[in-house]
Amino acid sequence: MSDLFPTYAKFPIEIVEGRGTVVKDANGKEYLDFTSGIAVCNLGHCHETVLAAVQKQLGQIWHTSNLFESSIQEQVATKLTADADRVVFFCNSGAEANEAALKLAKKHTGCDEIITFQQSFHGRTIATMTATGQGKIHDGFGALLPGFTYLPYNDLEALENTISAKTAAVMLEVIQGEGGVLPATTAFLVGASELCQKHGALLIIDEVQTGIGRTGKRFAFEHAGIEPDIFTLAKGLGNGLPVGAMVGKSELAATFGPGVHGSTFGGNKIAMAAADAVIDIVFDEAFLVDVTEKGAYFQQLLTEKVAANVVEIRGEGLMLGIALESEAGEVVKALQELGLLTLTAGPNVLRILPPLTVTKEELKCAANLIESVLIKQEVGMK
Ligand SMILES: *Cc1c(COP(=O)(O)O)cnc(C)c1O
Repeated sequence: MSDLFPTYAKFPIEIVEGRGTVVKDANGKEYLDFTSGIAVCNLGHCHETVLAAVQKQLGQIWHTSNLFESSIQEQVATKLTADADRVVFFCNSGAEANEAALKLAKKHTGCDEIITFQQSFHGRTIATMTATGQGKIHDGFGALLPGFTYLPYNDLEALENTISAKTAAVMLEVIQGEGGVLPATTAFLVGASELCQKHGALLIIDEVQTGIGRTGKRFAFEHAGIEPDIFTLAKGLGNGLPVGAMVGKSELAATFGPGVHGSTFGGNKIAMAAADAVIDIVFDEAFLVDVTEKGAYFQQLLTEKVAANVVEIRGEGLMLGIALESEAGEVVKALQELGLLTLTAGPNVLRILPPLTVTKEELKCAANLIESVLIKQEVGMK
C-alpha cells in the first residue's frame, strides 16, 4: 500500500529519464511526451542551457531569504516585464501566484467582489479553489471565501450586467486549460478589459498554463492586444523547477508594501536561475514564431487526419484540444500503449501539450499515432 494521500489517480507508468520530447519509463519503454508535465517542461526535459544555469547556481548559493537583496530576482523581473511599467512578486506555484493576485486586488480596491468564469481553474488553496468555477472542486469543503460570482465564459453581456463599482477584480484564463482547452474570443477579452476600466475593477489574467510561449506569444493575452492589470505565471516559467510569479502594473506596487505579503521560498536562487535561462530562450521572437508555425502545422495535420471523426480541434500555438464524442481517458490509455503521452481536459477533451522545442518529425509521428487510435481503432468516433 502507498504511504501517499491518494489525491491523484496515477497512470501505472514511472518516467525515470528524459531528453527533449523523449522520456523513458522504468521498464525502458520510450514515449513522446506530449504533456510536458502539464505545460511545465516547455523546453523539453533536461534542456542543456537550463541545466547548466541551475548547476552553476547550485554550486554558488541556494537560498538566502527575501530579507536580502537578490540581483537574480531583479534580473528575471526585468526580463519578464520587458519594457512594460510593471513589477513582479515571486512565489512557488500557480495557486500561490493567483492567491497573491486576489489579495492584491482586494487590498488595492477595498472591495470583496470577484468575478470568475464557469469551467475555470485557478488552483487548490481556499481562495483559488473558490475562484475556480467548477462545483466538483468545491464539493465537501464547507464555506468558501465570500464574494465570488461565476459567469458563463465568453458571455460579455453577463459580465456587463454583473460588474459594478463593488467589483474588485475579474479573473480569467485566455484559454481555459483544465476546463477543456476552451479559448476566449478576442471580443470577450477586449470587452472584459474595457468593462474593468469603466468600473475601476482590476483585470487579472491567469497565464499559469498559457504563458511562457505556450500559445506562440510570451503571454496569451498579447494575442488580443490587451493590458491586464495583473497576470500570473507558473507552470512553464522554471521548466520543472517550482516557481510562480504575479506581475502587476507599477501603480499597484504601493499596495504590497513591506510586510503585507510574502513567501519564504519565493524567488529562491535555484528557481530564478532556471527562470532566467527559460526566459532568454522563449522570449526570442524567432523562437515564438517557430512555436506558432509548429502549432499551425500540427493543427493542419490533425485536421487532415481526424477532423471528420471528432467534434472539434481547437487551441492556439502548442496548446491544443481535440473534443471527442467519447471518453478522452480511453484515448489517452491507448496512446500510452503506442508510446505517446497525452492528457485529458474534462471528460471528453484530449489535451495535447508538447514541449515548445518539439520537432516537426515528432509532431508528424504523434499525429499518426492519434489518427491510428481515433480512426483505425474507432475510439472517439462520432
Ligand atoms: C495549473 C494551473 C493553476 C494551478 O497551478 P499550481 O502550480 O498547481 O498551483 C492555476 N491556474 C491555471 C490556469 C492552471 O493551469
